[in-house]
Amino acid sequence: MLKLQTPNGDTRILLHSCCAPCSSAIIECMLANGLRPTVFYCNPNIYPQAEYETRKNEAIRFVTSQGLDFVDADYDYAHWKARMTGLEDEPERGPRCLRCFTLRLTETARYASEHGFTLFTTTLASSRWKSLEQINEAGRCAAARYPGTLFWEQNWRKDGLQERRNQLLREYAFYNQQYCGCEFSMRRLNKPKEG
Ligand code: SF4
Repeated sequence: MLKLQTPNGDTRILLHSCCAPCSSAIIECMLANGLRPTVFYCNPNIYPQAEYETRKNEAIRFVTSQGLDFVDADYDYAHWKARMTGLEDEPERGPRCLRCFTLRLTETARYASEHGFTLFTTTLASSRWKSLEQINEAGRCAAARYPGTLFWEQNWRKDGLQERRNQLLREYAFYNQQYCGCEFSMRRLNKPKEG
């Protein structure tokens, strides 16, 4: 199991969770290292609302099974979409995704700042579909908005965590997500399969 060291020695961590599958191995690894994160679910990007509720309920199912606190942030898709204006046609890993990460992590930093957390990080970094550079940039930008907070940059795909994520996905029979989350990423569903 990966040996974790937080950048400032804190053991109190606010963990932004994007979904249950991406959270599972990271939470397991934190617990094995004596770290008990508070899980912050802030994903107003997910569309439609029924999909949001399904994903959130899966996150609650996993997080509560681990005996951890789950913080349910507001779902305001209209606000999220308004903030993405002009970027609708951008591809995944493009500027819309950077803005989406920044919005979600800024909200996480705000909550951290208001509830006595210094350190925050995100499960977004575990997905191979996403740019780690964009996630780290968004995290640093969010922390800069709330002095006193610090974004923990960690590559959560390495050291067996990706493989463990896939094992836990099967073990817990998590809901199978077919697209990243927003309505623009649903275009992936309509693409003909390659090969
Ligand atoms: S594709 Fe994913 S990361 Fe990019 S804007 Fe949509 S929901 Fe956010």
